[in-house]
Amino acid sequence: MAKPLVAIVGRPNVGKSTLFNKLVGKRIAIVEDTPGVTRDRIYAEVEWLNQKFTLIDTGGIEPESEDIILKQMKRQAQIAIETADVIVFMVDGKEGLTGSDIEVAEMLRKVNKPVVLVVNKIDNLKLEDNKYEFYNLGIGEPITISAALSLGLGDMLDEIVRHFEKVEEDEEDEALIKVTIVGKPNVGKSSLLNRLTGEERAIVSDIPGTTRDAIDSLVEINGDKFLFIDTAGIRRKSKIKEEIEKYSVIRSLTAVDRADVCLIMIDATEGVTEQDEKIAGIAHEAGKGVIIVVNKWDVVEKDDKTMNDYTKQVRNALSFMTYAPVIYISAKTGQRIPRLIELIKYVADQNSMRIKTGVLNEVISEAVMMKQPPVEKGKALKIYYATQVSTKPPTFAFFVNDEEIVHFSYERYLENQIRQHFGFEGTPIRIVYRSKK
Ligand code: GDP
Ligand code: GDP
Repeated sequence: MAKPLVAIVGRPNVGKSTLFNKLVGKRIAIVEDTPGVTRDRIYAEVEWLNQKFTLIDTGGIEPESEDIILKQMKRQAQIAIETADVIVFMVDGKEGLTGSDIEVAEMLRKVNKPVVLVVNKIDNLKLEDNKYEFYNLGIGEPITISAALSLGLGDMLDEIVRHFEKVEEDEEDEALIKVTIVGKPNVGKSSLLNRLTGEERAIVSDIPGTTRDAIDSLVEINGDKFLFIDTAGIRRKSKIKEEIEKYSVIRSLTAVDRADVCLIMIDATEGVTEQDEKIAGIAHEAGKGVIIVVNKWDVVEKDDKTMNDYTKQVRNALSFMTYAPVIYISAKTGQRIPRLIELIKYVADQNSMRIKTGVLNEVISEAVMMKQPPVEKGKALKIYYATQVSTKPPTFAFFVNDEEIVHFSYERYLENQIRQHFGFEGTPIRIVYRSKK
């Protein structure tokens, strides 16, 4: 089940970042390590009453001058409309209603998406009456909060999660391999999608999503079923120009979340860019199967070393996903497309592979015999046993004497041993440690 996506929209200074940080709380630390992605913290996982959702802050990143605020807000609202399941529209209860609030409300009213109107900076009961003028926006009952003082957040979250049932998906066909193609504009996503689906077939099988505005393509290739998930703007070019990279990252997020396998598309003529790094980081954090697809290989001048050198560069830039296979294709000429389809199947399998506890423990005890855990804080790590607790991504629980003394380098060693024996190519794997007396 894909996690619902909630977007916060609103004028600069209404308190979006403040709310974002309150909701995300200490969880933000969990997503710290991936290079690129979390530096600007545009999204986070939030949990309320056992419901998990992804929160994105569409907030301003452009220089703030008065005359572009409206333009900026409209763009944010458009992104939210295209990608989110629920939109939180935040206004400033101290400043009151403004012209740009009215215009944005007009945009939001036109689309069929739940909007939660939140009036912020209601720091005490006396200010409560400030909410009435916001009824004029015509998007329903305003909910009053104080993000700074954490007041009213529970009621607001209740209202947000109340809308989730309507957006749940029904695509739980086990045999279906869900694939998304992500990458920056002009890298060749549409061209590849057409190659993979065959133009005609894709058109007849388009399923216009009612709640997500997405167009997915269901295709059968040699007896296997693939669902190619649309990143808004692949099939149907986005209404607004993608000049701001942050927005295409946000767009990728929804698609990645729904996929089993992500094709990270790199333009061979440009190499890995910072934006590619961010998108790859999202797939990595989400625990998805990943294939690095270097496109436009037809235009690169090659000798016998080119591919090796290129792979080194890619590995260097995306050093956090050494597990991902790299493939060189041309969406234009069709080079290696059949191989790519095989690879997608393979990586989907690896991402959902399950290892029996017995075999796993044989491998782990052998690994421990070959290389003893280092002594940390005067104590030696003991591993009692390990078991795979879930798939997609493959996750292992290690029961140890003290989870606090697992050293990073030893963890790396264990992961490598698991990969050496079982493969898990193209998928991140996770290891959690539990202390057991
Ligand atoms: P953003 O531009 O929408 O992300 O707004 P920020 O979160 O950066 O907040 C803008 C200003 O409003 C900051 O000075 C915050 O301290 C202040 N602010 C945010 N929430 C509240 C609130 O609930 N009450 C009051 N009085 N001020 C707030
Ligand atoms: P998107 O914005 O990522 O969907 O990219 P498109 O599929 O629209 O492709 C952008 C441009 O790159 C178009 O002019 C394509 O013809 C071109 N293009 C796509 N794939 C290839 C390729 O493998 N080789 C070459 N030479 N051009 C390509």
